[in-house]
Amino acid sequence: MNNTKCIFCDIKQNRIISEDQSFIVIRDAFPVTFLHTLIIPKRHVETYFDLSIKEIMELNKTLADEKARLESEDPSITGFNIGMNCGKDAGQTVMHCHIHLIPRRKGDVDDPRGGVRGVIAKMQKY
Ligand code: AMP
Ligand code: ZN
Repeated sequence: MNNTKCIFCDIKQNRIISEDQSFIVIRDAFPVTFLHTLIIPKRHVETYFDLSIKEIMELNKTLADEKARLESEDPSITGFNIGMNCGKDAGQTVMHCHIHLIPRRKGDVDDPRGGVRGVIAKMQKY
């Protein structure tokens, strides 16, 4: 990483699971589920909406690659949540863009229905 603006600019090399031209991949330090993964642009930008088209194209491939890697590492994974908190009011706490790739497993919660709708907890079920 080429600057020291924030904790995601300062990730130590030994925590990086994989990387490509524009992104690094690490495990979340406070995982929601086992193998909760973060995809982080090398460039310090605040949210997904600040990525270039080229970075977004690369991100699509990185997401697919990491999904495949996780599934081959852990056959108990039966689904994923992909999440981005864009801005403090949407829950973002580290102001360097990152994409949560959260492995899910059958039965990991009683009723998974609604998934990411749970950002507004009382509205998750419909
Ligand atoms: P967000 O609320 O979307 O900004 O998410 C920030 C995420 O970064 C949370 O899931 C944290 O658990 C995770 N996190 C915070 N500090 C670190 C760190 N030093 N290394 C890896 N993950 C971190
Ligand atoms: Zn940063």
